[in-house]
Amino acid sequence: MCGIIGYIGKSKAAPILIEGLKRLEYRGYDSAGISTINENNIIIEKDIGKIHEIENKINFKDIDGFVGVSQCRWATHGGVTKENAHPHTDCTGDISIVHNGIIENFSELKEKLLKKDHKFKSLTDTEVIAHLIEDNYDGNIEEATRKALKQIEGSYALGVICSKEPDKLIAARNESPLILGLGKDENFIASDVPAILKYTNKVIYLENNEMAILTKNNVSIKDID
Ligand code: GLU
Repeated sequence: MCGIIGYIGKSKAAPILIEGLKRLEYRGYDSAGISTINENNIIIEKDIGKIHEIENKINFKDIDGFVGVSQCRWATHGGVTKENAHPHTDCTGDISIVHNGIIENFSELKEKLLKKDHKFKSLTDTEVIAHLIEDNYDGNIEEATRKALKQIEGSYALGVICSKEPDKLIAARNESPLILGLGKDENFIASDVPAILKYTNKVIYLENNEMAILTKNNVSIKDID
C-alpha cells in the first residue's frame, strides 16, 4: 500500500499532485501516475520508476485540469509495468481511479465483468473497481461508486474522478488510511498528512466504510451503506 493524493479547486491540479506524491515517497513505491480532467476528457500519465525519473519523460506541470487524482504504487496484484500503474480507467475512459489496498474478491468480480464484455487493460485487482463503477453508472458518480463498493471485499483508500461530472472528486476508505484536507476554494484527499500540509492543516480522517464527495467549495461525508 502506498500513496494517494487528489485535488479539486482553483489551481492547476497536476503540479500539486506531483508535489504531494513526492512527500509520500518515503513509503517506497515502484511506479506512479496522475489523472486530471481537462475539457471533459480524462488525461492519464503514468510509468514505472521513481517520480524524478518519470518526470524526465513526462512534463507533468504542462498537464491541464483543476481536478485530479494520483498514486504511487506498491504492486500487490500484477507486476511492475506501466499498464499496471495507477490511475486505472473503465472501458469508456470516462472514469479514472487510484487505489491503495487489496480487493480480496477481485477474481470473482473480474470474471463477472468479463462476461459482461468489459475489457481489462491491466492485471491489477484495482481495475475491477473502475469497471464496477462503470457498470453501475447512470449519470451519478457518487451513486455508482457506492454501488460498486458494496460489492467489494477488501481494503481500500480510493479516489475517483469522472469526466462527465468534472466538478466532483469522490473518495472512500476501508482499512486503508485516507484523509480529507480542507482549503479555501480547494479541497484535497490524501493517504497521509505530509502530502497536503503545504496547502492546509485542516484535516478530517475518514473512518472505515465512509465515503466523501468533494467539490471546490464543499466536502460531505457519508456512510457507504
Ligand atoms: N493492489 C493494488 C495494485 O496492486 C494497489 C497496490 C497499492 O496499494 O499500491 O495495483
